[in-house]
Amino acid sequence: MFTCNSRLAPAVLLCLVMAAACTGEAPAPYAAVTIDLGLAQVDDAPVYFVVGQSGVPGTDNQGHTSNAGFVVTDEGVVVFDALGTPALGYRLLQAIRSVTDKPVRKIVISHYHADHVYGLQAFVDHGGQPDVIAQQRSSAYSGGSTASQGEDAARRLAQRREALWPWVNDATRIVEPDIVFDEEYNFTLGGVGFEIRHMGPAHAPGDSVMLVREYGVLFSGDLVYKGRVPFLDSPSTDVFNWLSGLEWIAGLQPQPYIIPGHGEPADDTAASVVVTKEYIDYLIDSMRPAVADFVPFDEAYAAIDWSRYASMPAFAASNRGNAYRVYLELEARSFAR
Ligand SMILES: [Zn+2]
Repeated sequence: MFTCNSRLAPAVLLCLVMAAACTGEAPAPYAAVTIDLGLAQVDDAPVYFVVGQSGVPGTDNQGHTSNAGFVVTDEGVVVFDALGTPALGYRLLQAIRSVTDKPVRKIVISHYHADHVYGLQAFVDHGGQPDVIAQQRSSAYSGGSTASQGEDAARRLAQRREALWPWVNDATRIVEPDIVFDEEYNFTLGGVGFEIRHMGPAHAPGDSVMLVREYGVLFSGDLVYKGRVPFLDSPSTDVFNWLSGLEWIAGLQPQPYIIPGHGEPADDTAASVVVTKEYIDYLIDSMRPAVADFVPFDEAYAAIDWSRYASMPAFAASNRGNAYRVYLELEARSFAR
């Protein structure tokens, strides 16, 4: 049992306070992140990225399940996505500071989902308030779904405050974009061109990708998933538009190095898109006959062989909801005909 000598305690406390003051470092403003962010660099380019762990956000991964990246130019830094907690956003900011002391000028957000935007708070409060850029439909971050994966912002925040406490807590807030665009938003910084293109609704209404031709890099956001079952279970998901977007990415020439929203980057474009494309195709092919024959969803779902995906991370959390979402989308299309 811990005992305290009441005469020594004030002196010990004073020493601790003085020790903290002597380091000269302000304490981190967020709960400590103990996992390694894993900063990596694209070969021969001032382009950096971190890769999140596979699976759904929880205490085991401390919310680090998505990717983010940044490009250093002579006039400042452009960041793509902000990670899934303010604490992780702060760590990303520290990672940027380990590479350059140039100011962070802009943050482009692939889409407004919790795992990509909660880190914005750290950039606004501690990173010099860079412009936050997102497609205009990202502002209407709302909706809902049957499973626990609904994308209504307030409900999601409440869920994350439980699942990711203390990294997401009562002080966590959703930062809205400063600059919104419709189809495209292009800019140059430090002589480097940045092309942002709206690809949604696909995974989310505002899905956007950022192409940096100078370095042959595409930040794809969640259009490209690797290493886990993709997330489709939102009323705003459009699987057919999503497939068109994957086709556009696969057709880019010269082939870019793709940094996906989840999973390892790769310079083989076809291999990058194939995991997501095959999964969506499998859901459509599996659900289409059931919808055509008016087979109830539960019955259809139970009859499908899921073995090729069952061992993938996030299968238990996402697959059933994903399948149901595709079932509903096919049903709506069949009525619309
Ligand atoms: Zn994501």
